[in-house]
Amino acid sequence: MVTMALSRDEMVTRTLASDPAAGGQFIVGVKTTGIYCRPTCRPPRKPRPENCAFFASPDEARAAGFRACKLCTPDGATRGADRVAYLDTIEEAPGPLAFAVDDAGALLWLKFLDGRYERTLERELEREGFRVARDLGRTARARGELLEYCAGARRTFDTPLVLAGSAWQKGVWRALTRIPFGETRTYGEVAAMVGRPEAARAVGRANATNRLPLVIPCHRVIGADGALTGFGGGMHLKVRLLAHEGVQVDATTRRTGQRV
Ligand SMILES: [Zn+2]
Repeated sequence: MVTMALSRDEMVTRTLASDPAAGGQFIVGVKTTGIYCRPTCRPPRKPRPENCAFFASPDEARAAGFRACKLCTPDGATRGADRVAYLDTIEEAPGPLAFAVDDAGALLWLKFLDGRYERTLERELEREGFRVARDLGRTARARGELLEYCAGARRTFDTPLVLAGSAWQKGVWRALTRIPFGETRTYGEVAAMVGRPEAARAVGRANATNRLPLVIPCHRVIGADGALTGFGGGMHLKVRLLAHEGVQVDATTRRTGQRV
C-alpha cells in the first residue's frame, strides 16, 4: 500500500531502529513469518528489509493475510495515531509554560518550561502514544484563559480538562479545583474534602502526579504547619504561583503567611 507519507526506505529505516516516533505511523508485515507488527516492536530478530511489507492500518495487514504480533499487539495501533496532542507555549509570568490540548481543545497536560523535569512535554506526549501537532485554533481557548490568569484577570478555568488517573486521583484533582484562588488548604483538609480525612499522605501522592499544575491548583496545598512542601517541577514554581495569587511566602522558611 502506498497510502503513507513516508517512503519505503524511510519505513524500513524506522522499523529496523524501532523508532519510537514511528509508532502509529504504519504497520509492518513480515513475509517470512506472516506476522504484522508496530514499527516500534522489538522482536528477537528484526526482519530483513526485503521481507517487509508496509500497510497503513492493521485491517490492511489482515486483509493481506498477516496475523497480529503477540509482542506489540498492533491492533489499534493506528487508532493510537489518531490521538493528537496540540502543543502551545506561553511566555508570560508566572509562566513560561508549555501546554497541550486534545482535538476538542480540552487540556491534556501543562509543564513550566523552567521546571525540573526528566522530559519535555513533547517527549512525554510521544511516550504516551500521542502525535504532537500545532494548531493555534485548537489551543486558542486554553491559551486565552491561561493568559487571562497570567494577567491577573482570571481566577478559575472553564476549559474542559482531561484527567488521566485513577478514581481516587481524579477525586483529589477535582477537589483541588474547588480551593479558591489566593487561598491554601492543608493536605488533611483536602483529604477531608474528598471524604477520607485520614488520607493526607495519599492526597500528597495524587498531588505529585497532577499533570495540570496551575489549572488544577496543587500549588494551593501546603503542610499542616504552613510549610510549602513539594511541587513537581520544583519549589520555585510553587512559590511563584502562590506569590502571583497574593499568598505571602516567607523566603527564609518557605512558609506561607496564612494558616500557620
Ligand atoms: Zn510485534
